[in-house]
Amino acid sequence: MNKILVIEDDRVIRENILKLLKAEGYDVTGAENGAMGLNAAVSNLPDVILCDVMMPQLDGYGVLEALRSHPVTATVPFVFLTGKADRSEVRQGMELGADDYLTKPFTKAELVGAVSSRLKKQAALAKQQDNLRSQSNELLQEAADKLEQIKTNLCGALDRQEFQVYYQPQIDVQTGQIMSAEALVRWLHPEKGLISPAEFIPDAEATGFIVQLGEWVLQTACRQMQVWQNAGFSLEQIAVNLSPRQFYQPDLSSRVAEILAEIGLAPSSLELELTESMMVKDAESAIATLQQLKDLGISISIDDFGTGYSSLSYLTQYPFDVLKIDRCFITNITDGCANAAIVKAIIEMAHSLCLEVIAEGVETEAERDFLWRYECDAMQGYLFSPPVPAVDFEELLVSGK
Ligand SMILES: [Mg+2]
Repeated sequence: MNKILVIEDDRVIRENILKLLKAEGYDVTGAENGAMGLNAAVSNLPDVILCDVMMPQLDGYGVLEALRSHPVTATVPFVFLTGKADRSEVRQGMELGADDYLTKPFTKAELVGAVSSRLKKQAALAKQQDNLRSQSNELLQEAADKLEQIKTNLCGALDRQEFQVYYQPQIDVQTGQIMSAEALVRWLHPEKGLISPAEFIPDAEATGFIVQLGEWVLQTACRQMQVWQNAGFSLEQIAVNLSPRQFYQPDLSSRVAEILAEIGLAPSSLELELTESMMVKDAESAIATLQQLKDLGISISIDDFGTGYSSLSYLTQYPFDVLKIDRCFITNITDGCANAAIVKAIIEMAHSLCLEVIAEGVETEAERDFLWRYECDAMQGYLFSPPVPAVDFEELLVSGK
């Protein structure tokens, strides 16, 4: 049964309206002034409110304003009851957000018509909202199902050993020898072939699978490093990229320590690469995590330097060991170009902060010569080798390239 609240200070008019509406089958409540009407509106939440404009103390405008600003009653249909000639009253009421008005005296048909048309409109709005809600629920469900499906696919790929760790040499700029390696994950799909990390890493990140995948990469790379060290190759470090999700795992440092202990690899042989953007999310906890990792003896490098937030102050706040200059600064670098000034400045600044500098994306001899001249410590890029499978990397080590 629809509930109608009638706020009217004239007792005769009020009771007359209540009687008429009750006869139509509505559940009616009367209030004899604005304050009582407001209380009744908030506690009963009527389907329609009929309210006199002219009342002592709190008038109809005041009631309407209060109702519209209250979250519970903000959208309840509101019909003004006005005196006959008061066009300005009507105008003011509609501007305040009234839905309709009735001019006194009105007939029973006018009263019932005003109430029922408000109720019909309200019912239509409610139905529309229901539809919207169920549509958006469906969309949310679809998105959740899709993510779940993606995660299942990724987990399956890991089980089927479709992921592989590739290794890219990091070359000592002065000696030209391989000093370290960066481990990079690749997905060799049985049908689609090699899927780019740019394609599957965002999915892995979105589904949370990246934590599992990242740990697998870390284990695989550390085990491989152990094999190479045992074989007598003089690799200084294996560098492994950490994803934001992994980095903010509460037990990250103890998990990394466990993995190193299981494999028997010295923490000093591991370098973890992080990006600038990961540091800004929660600086305090980032610094604490980095310090824990450093206390284990692991090196920390800041990856893709210059492309993120580039706030130089964090270089002194965070305990980094290595700075990796992003490839975008290295491409086509020659003395005199703008990037040259940036790279020279970064190398100099990093060295004065006791950071080692690695240049990424070195593809030409001119780029290599530039880095040599300005005493960059290490470099990686296609000039020496793309990321390659472990067996191929081992060949590079053997040939002493
Ligand atoms: Mg990296």
